[in-house]
Amino acid sequence: MSERKFAVIGHPIGHTMSPFIHKRLFELASLEGEYTVIDVAPEELPEKINELNKLAGYNITIPNKQEIIPFLDGLDKKAALYGSVNTVKNGSSREGFTTDPDGFLKALAAAGIPFEGNICIIGCGGVARTFVYEAALAGCDITIAVRPEDKEIRDALAAEVREKLGGKEISVCLLSELEESSLCPQLLVNATPVGMYPKTDAMPVSEKVIARSRNVFDAIYNPLETKLIRTAKEFGKTAVGGMAMLVWQAVVSHEIWDGTVYDTEDINKLILDSAKEMEKSFR
Ligand code: NAP
Repeated sequence: MSERKFAVIGHPIGHTMSPFIHKRLFELASLEGEYTVIDVAPEELPEKINELNKLAGYNITIPNKQEIIPFLDGLDKKAALYGSVNTVKNGSSREGFTTDPDGFLKALAAAGIPFEGNICIIGCGGVARTFVYEAALAGCDITIAVRPEDKEIRDALAAEVREKLGGKEISVCLLSELEESSLCPQLLVNATPVGMYPKTDAMPVSEKVIARSRNVFDAIYNPLETKLIRTAKEFGKTAVGGMAMLVWQAVVSHEIWDGTVYDTEDINKLILDSAKEMEKSFR
């Protein structure tokens, strides 16, 4: 059994791809690492923190990403900015990181999609927050498009990012207005669950909007290729799905724990293998 123990903590934590992905990342790096799943509800953190402190490192998923913070000694810059931690490295101190933002940026970079110019983000929930923050940090022109019932949440997110990061004005519109507009985004990002398994025939926007977009990113990782991604590719666009982000954010955890640098080809293969594993295990 390995001396180096890692885990993912969450609650409930029945369905997670983390052990599959992280075990493969240890193998690719030829490093020992045992990776398990620990069910921890937020109210159990005080009694379980000693157990967690004995691990070399761990990942955190819903609902503990904020709740873990008081138990740590420090946060890196992005974890502090987002007020959210998904990776902890234990050593002489307990340090918290968030790897979702860099997972997103690395997924785009590996696909050859530039993160600049005008970005249109559909949706304003959890993952959209990451995309809007990163686009603001990168100095992009941002448009957030939502359905009418989400207007208030969208306006609050835009105001929060403007206040925290300043930068360029953030445009907001309804999805219906996006359909009729002449906006030609450098990057169209789906941050809604529209198109996710089992409703795989749905798309968050029409073909008209996809045709006007230069590149497409879909946060959805089940299926590997959503209808949005397939349609974008048929139109000759560069398009990448959420499994790439899921795997790359795990890669960033290993950079933090071990300083490992991976080969992009190995990670691309892991993305395909993870999609096959997901179909086997979660459908
Ligand atoms: P969330 O917090 O629930 O946000 C979803 C957003 O989409 C909300 O703004 C929601 O509006 C909107 N929405 C839902 N149904 C819609 C519809 N029919 N038309 C237009 N907008 C709609 O979810 P999330 O955590 O951001 O996740 C969104 C997707 O990203 C999921 O498929 C998730 O699996 C994926 N994701 C991927 C990664 C990755 O690493 N690849 C990471 C996180 C999430 P309401 O608030 O009105 O429902």
